Amino acid sequence: MGSDQRIVRCARVSFGKDEQLDIERDVKLIRYLLEHKHASPFEHVIIALESDKDLWLSILKGLPSPAVQIYYSGGYIWLNLRNYINARDLFPENLEKTLSEHLPATMAVVKNEKPRDYSKDEAYLKERVETNAGWLGLVDSLELGTDMDYYTFVVECPLFVARQWHRHRFGSYNEISRRYVSYEPSFYIPPYLRKQALSNKQASLEEPVEEPWNSMFLKKIGWYIQDLKELYKNMTEKEVAKELARGILPQFMNTRFYWTVPRVSLDNFIALRTHEGAQREIREFATAIRNLVGYRGCDKKLRL
Ligand SMILES: Cc1cc2nc3c(=O)[nH]c(=O)nc-3n(C[C@H](O)[C@H](O)[C@H](O)COP(=O)(O)OP(=O)(O)OC[C@H]3O[C@@H](n4cnc5c(N)ncnc54)[C@H](O)[C@@H]3O)c2cc1C
Repeated sequence: MGSDQRIVRCARVSFGKDEQLDIERDVKLIRYLLEHKHASPFEHVIIALESDKDLWLSILKGLPSPAVQIYYSGGYIWLNLRNYINARDLFPENLEKTLSEHLPATMAVVKNEKPRDYSKDEAYLKERVETNAGWLGLVDSLELGTDMDYYTFVVECPLFVARQWHRHRFGSYNEISRRYVSYEPSFYIPPYLRKQALSNKQASLEEPVEEPWNSMFLKKIGWYIQDLKELYKNMTEKEVAKELARGILPQFMNTRFYWTVPRVSLDNFIALRTHEGAQREIREFATAIRNLVGYRGCDKKLRL
């Protein structure tokens, strides 16, 4: 699952330019990523190698570092391209040939050759779903009926939702950075302000706070956001570093990230984040994901 362009999209999301296609610059970027060890974009390419368990065990014995994660599930060895590049000497030669056909630019650079070709995604997204707090798209999936089937999503959501999301560690992320982008930030403003639940410290009720407070606070939120946007703009115009100026942007600010996740972790996310104890905004995203790709219950095999 994946392509040369997938790697580049996941790298360029830092600059908010993940939809851009410029093959010559893309190939230069792949070379740069490899040479400077900016390795996380390579995690969004997933390899499933049909094999018996013995090959997997022999690969594990030869791993150069415990940081290289290679899994076995449903008759396949599962790994991402970052792990493959770190452990490629341990794999059969025909895998390298297959990868070179699917990822001609990346594998050529890995092998110190001049790239002659470049592989593109068929479409930017397979499906896109809107929620009240943003949107998500299914970029790709590799479904072989195992607990380690893989999915890549792109998500646009407020910062506080992204913080909750990124606690789900079993998976890979690449996100926009306000150190790099200069376009005006956008913000989520809830349709109404939900009341604090009294029975559960972390939860909210569906009902809005009383009027006039609901309307008054919403108006003020809008004004403060407008003010902060202007202050941010003024600061960056006066050459305040973007990495510092961003400190004043509130948690309602939207961010965008790519998420590549194995089924077992995706099901864990769906179970935890569609639960009524989860925050309404992330619950809407988790429900949208469940509607898109279903829930298989692979997480239920875990005791903890
Ligand atoms: C309603 C709700 C409230 C929450 N409140 C808070 C909060 O107040 N503060 C806070 O910090 N977090 C909070 N969290 C986040 C929560 O603690 C988890 O970090 C998050 O839900 C990710 O779950 P996970 O660890 O199962 O998933 P992942 O990190 O994706 O891990 C998937 C699975 O891999 C295994 N695993 C991964 N890493 C390890 C490891 N290092 N050791 C052992 N097993 C591992 C586990 O079996 C795990 O279930 C909250 C989550 C929810 C749903």
